[in-house]
This record gives sequence, structure tokens and C-alpha cells, in this order.
Amino acid sequence: MLDEKPARHEVIALPPLKMVLVHAKDKPVNKAEVQSAIKKVSSAPVTREEKVEAQSLIKIIEHLTKGTNDEKPMTTPARPVDVLRLHFADAVQENISLAPYTSARIGGPADIFVMVKSANELMGVMKVIWEQAVPYTILGGGSNVLVSDKGVRGVVVLNRAKEVLFESGAQPTVWCEAGVIFSNLANRCASKGLAGLEWAATVPGTVGGAVYGNAGAFGGDVSQNLIWADVLTKKNGVERYSVEQMRYAYRTSVFKSGNESAIILSAMLRLKNASAEEVSAKIIEFSERRKAAQPPGASMGSMFKNPVGDYAGRLIEAAGLKGTRIGNAEISTLHGNFFINHGETRAEDVHALIRLAQETVAKKFNVNLELEVELIGDWSVER
Ligand SMILES: Cc1cc2nc3c(=O)[nH]c(=O)nc-3n(C[C@H](O)[C@H](O)[C@H](O)COP(=O)(O)OP(=O)(O)OC[C@H]3O[C@@H](n4cnc5c(N)ncnc54)[C@H](O)[C@@H]3O)c2cc1C
Repeated sequence: MLDEKPARHEVIALPPLKMVLVHAKDKPVNKAEVQSAIKKVSSAPVTREEKVEAQSLIKIIEHLTKGTNDEKPMTTPARPVDVLRLHFADAVQENISLAPYTSARIGGPADIFVMVKSANELMGVMKVIWEQAVPYTILGGGSNVLVSDKGVRGVVVLNRAKEVLFESGAQPTVWCEAGVIFSNLANRCASKGLAGLEWAATVPGTVGGAVYGNAGAFGGDVSQNLIWADVLTKKNGVERYSVEQMRYAYRTSVFKSGNESAIILSAMLRLKNASAEEVSAKIIEFSERRKAAQPPGASMGSMFKNPVGDYAGRLIEAAGLKGTRIGNAEISTLHGNFFINHGETRAEDVHALIRLAQETVAKKFNVNLELEVELIGDWSVER
């Protein structure tokens, strides 16, 4: 016999409360309707989680209906930040400075800031962002970006999804979520006697950022390790991209070049069996080489891509620009392609140095320096 009792979710009032907010985005909502939904939720048999969710819904609705009365429908539309908070609670913050989330320690605030701790959470956040039609930016380690002083409009999603799964055997692999810090992953591989990612042990940032930009060092790069990446798009949901579909070239991919747009959720990387000592020794050698060549201090790494057959750092040095300073931003005295933040540096000053380097090198050597670092946020010029 069929059980004729209504399913629990039909009796409680969370769905009607949510509908109130969904509709509040497009049209005014009647306060009496809201009060009846609140009444239902207070008398329904809810779990602790549902109660917490209902309370946060009620708080938002109360905020939206402030100053309205029963006769007058509320007119304030639900803000995307409120809708995100409904689902992700305290992981959602407003007006958060992005400087601490970048390696250069530069940049203004994100209107809305959400930290995700798993690929599932990342997918959930993106679903709401797409439903709400808010602009968004994904940030991994913030080590290849210059964030504008005016900050970033819409939502900045900080990816801290860190699941890792090793597969041993004759052809070992590692699968990981995109928020894993690449250098940590490389060191974990070393301790397990798995070779292939030694080059990545000294590259700052996340696996997602590296897969996006085809990061590389010491002769290795992502294109040589990646088997596939799972990516998320609004149109197609989750799709598996083979390394060929990533269309990798020097420090770029199908996504970085702007030909397609997607969020990298996770990656499957090829490894090789080796001894832990061998792999660790290679990592130590690479770290020492980097220490000797790379200037200390807060930076974004190499500012420009190396032009074919030459080095951006050499050209900037030959143009006499090493040590040039605007505000607290300086073209390193040690390496022309590193721009250092000497403290409280404005993104605008770094940007002025970028233009100076590009113009001087173009004039002296007829070479156009292409940015490797991405400018993100609001770079509009006020008139
Ligand atoms: C001191 C220093 C040394 C460096 N040395 C090297 C080097 O040797 N080789 C090298 O290649 N790079 C180097 N870099 C640059 C940087 O480490 C790499 O580009 C790195 O891969 C960026 O990863 P991230 O997580 O920090 O990306 P972020 O800076 O956070 O983001 C960079 C871009 O990737 C996008 N992105 C990030 N995560 C995702 C995702 N999950 N899905 C979709 N898009 C995403 C962002 O939206 C942004 O457009 C260096 C940087 C520093 C500061």
C-alpha cells in the first residue's frame, strides 16, 4: 500500500519562504504572504539545520520588509549577497580587502567575497551566482593577478577546495580539487616517491590557477602533467577537458586566452614512480636555483611573458629600468621582470610601471611586452 502521508518537505515552510525571496528579486512581495510563510515555519516539525536556515531567511525578509506595512507591499529587491548568505551563511562577506589574498599584497575590496572549501561548494556558489546574474571572479592563490585599487565588482570566489587522491600502480596519478596549493601537492608527491611535479614545488598558487595559465618552471609545465580537468560552465554543467582540449601554449590555455570561459573544479595529473630521495633532491635543487635568481619581497612573479627568443627581464634591464620606482612599487634591482611592493603600494603605481616598461622597451627595441599577470577588477578611468 502507498504511504499517503505528505513528504516532510511539503509540510514545512522553507520552500514558501525561499519563493518569497526568489520573487523579491523581480517583483514586490506582499507582507501578509511573508507573515503566513513565517507562521508555517514556526509551527512545522523542522530539523536544527532547517531551523537555522529558516531563521536566516526570516532575518533577511525582515530586513527587506522594514518600513512596509500589511497594506503596502515591500519594494526592496533581495540583494545577491543576501541570497548567497541564505545558502552559504558566514562564508559570504561584504566589502573585503583582497590585498591579503594576493601574493603582491595589493588591491581594493571585493563587493562580495565567498570562500569555498570543496568543489561541491564551488558548484553551489556558481549556481546561485548564475541565477542572480552577478559578475564574478575566481581567485586561487592570487599570485598571478594585479587587483585594482577600486576593487572588484560582484562576487570574488576564493577557491580553497583541497581534496587529494593518489592512485598508485605502474602509471601513478594524482587527482585533486583546484584549490590545492600546487607546491604542497608537489611536496606530498615527493614524500611518496612520486616524480613529475618537482618543477611545481616552487610555483606559488593553486592547481586551478596553474591549470588555467599553464604554469611552468625548470622545463616542466602543466601541459606535460595534465591528463584531464573537470570544468564547470553555466551552459553545460561539468565537463571533462582532455589536455588537448585545453589548447595549451606558453603560459596560456583555451580559458586564459579568452576563447572559452569555465571554472576549473579538479585535475587529474600524471606522475612517475621514483624514490622519495631522488624527487626531494630535485626539489631542493630547484628551490636553491630559484632563491639565487628570484628577488625576495611581495610580488606577482614574472610581470611579462618572455618574448620569443628573448627574456622580458633582460629587455627591461637593457632599457635601464631596473630599480625604477613609482610610489612604493619598484622594478626589482635584481630582476627586471619582477615588480616589488615595498609596502602599502597602490595598484595604480604598479600599473604606471607596467606602462613605462612596455613603452620604453617598445621604443628602444621594438618589442611588445605582453602581460603574464592579469589585471582584475575595476580599472575604469574617471573623467
Ligand atoms: C614569487 C612568484 C614566483 C612565480 N613563479 C612562477 C613560475 O615559475 N612559473 C609560473 O608559471 N608562474 C609563476 N608565478 C605566477 C603564479 O604562481 C602562477 O601563475 C600560478 O599558477 C597562479 O595560480 P593562482 O592560484 O595564484 O592563480 P590566481 O592568481 O589566483 O589567478 C590567476 C588566474 O587564474 C584564474 N583562476 C584561478 N583559479 C581558477 C579556477 N579554479 N578556475 C578558473 N580560473 C581560475 C583566475 O581567475 C585568474 O584569472 C609566480 C608568482 C610569484 C608571486
